Amino acid sequence: MADTIFGRIIRREIPARIEHEDDLCLAFHDVAPQAPVHVLVIPKRPIVSLAEAGPDDGQLLGHLVVVATEVARKLGLADGYRLVVNCGRDGGQSVDHLHVHLLGGRRLAWPPG
Ligand code: AMP
Repeated sequence: MADTIFGRIIRREIPARIEHEDDLCLAFHDVAPQAPVHVLVIPKRPIVSLAEAGPDDGQLLGHLVVVATEVARKLGLADGYRLVVNCGRDGGQSVDHLHVHLLGGRRLAWPPG
């Protein structure tokens, strides 16, 4: 896959406010937050999107969700939060490196736009 801005964040070529890092993933604050807390959790292995993930990626995808819940707890989102994965053009994905949005700190509307 082509390199993306998230690849550059993983390699520390551009700065980010990092909340969590382990062997498999990185969690950092979104540069254009849509809520008081807006963190992105990304795999270090550059999977383009959910549509490109396969059966072997189940453990990694689960890990991203677990890390998102841990970051939510760390950041005090006791009243709830939302995890979002935008996939492809119709899903509103703008960066071609799979990422989980963690949004919280305000009441979120439903349905999304
Ligand atoms: P999506 O639209 O689901 O692909 O989400 C991509 C997200 O990446 C958007 O919320 C952007 O604000 C965010 N983003 C883009 N560039 C950066 C960056 N350099 N640091 C942090 N977040 C970024």
